[in-house]
Amino acid sequence: MLVDAHVHLALDGIAFQEARLQHKDNPNPTIITNFLRKYKKMGICALRDGGDNLNVSLLARELALEEGMILRTPGFAIYKQGCYGSFLGKPVADMADFKNVFKKLLASNPDHLKILLTGLVDFNQFGKVDGSHFSYDEMYYMIQTAKDQDLPVMVHTNSAEAVGIAVKAGANTVEHGYFLTENELQLMLEHDTIWIPTLAPLGNLITSKDSRFTDQLPNIARIYDAQKAQVKKAFELGVKIAVGSDAGSYGVSHGKGFYDEVDHMVMTGISKHAVLELATANGIGALNLNNKELDYIFQAKKSIELRNYDEDSSDLL
Ligand SMILES: [Zn+2]
Repeated sequence: MLVDAHVHLALDGIAFQEARLQHKDNPNPTIITNFLRKYKKMGICALRDGGDNLNVSLLARELALEEGMILRTPGFAIYKQGCYGSFLGKPVADMADFKNVFKKLLASNPDHLKILLTGLVDFNQFGKVDGSHFSYDEMYYMIQTAKDQDLPVMVHTNSAEAVGIAVKAGANTVEHGYFLTENELQLMLEHDTIWIPTLAPLGNLITSKDSRFTDQLPNIARIYDAQKAQVKKAFELGVKIAVGSDAGSYGVSHGKGFYDEVDHMVMTGISKHAVLELATANGIGALNLNNKELDYIFQAKKSIELRNYDEDSSDLL
């Protein structure tokens, strides 16, 4: 069973604004189901979404069940007011504000809490990321508040400093983690954190020599190579790595993005067999799938295979 541990069902990997416009008034079930079926067709039956402010991933969770799949969603993500993340969630100004927003969040029955601790990787400058948007104390408070409600926490973060804060504050998974060092990998080992390095958004631009980024490609390649080296090191150290494609972000399509991510991980020097193994084991860990859910996916898959078999045999008659 394959798991994509980082997707954005509200986006299509091609045109950011247009994709979001399709869900402007209400989340569009046809578009969402089409994406889900792409995953299913490729054998990926469990997904974890990064959240959105259009309720797309909440509807996707219901539609996934109809498809015999499991999708985890934070509902909307939490980001620091005035910082990166508006399309993913709701802003909080301080911890008093977080308390109120978190109460609203709980009403949608989220599967995990998603926090944006930093912005994106800057393609123009190696190693440049804005500083942490929340302090260690704030992160600790938010993460513990979520854990009190039995919610695991997914933290979007880049830079060594911010990854360190996230891990020490108790994040269950670190998303992206560009520019981290061996120090943070050791911290992840100590804290049993799962790392989702999302190589595909950068790697796919390099593979396709995307003309939109011609000037930036040399720098993107440098950043991507540095991330690949850390992924290899993490694997050797025994850090739990999961496969998360970041599908929906530019250049990463739903379904296929998972295999792109696998290919990028294989390019670090880890065997394909090992990558697929960690995709399953650590994917199940990242999504916190229980036996009942695993059985649900398994049974649904089996019934599809039987149905296909019946259809195939009726063709023969
Ligand atoms: Zn993402």
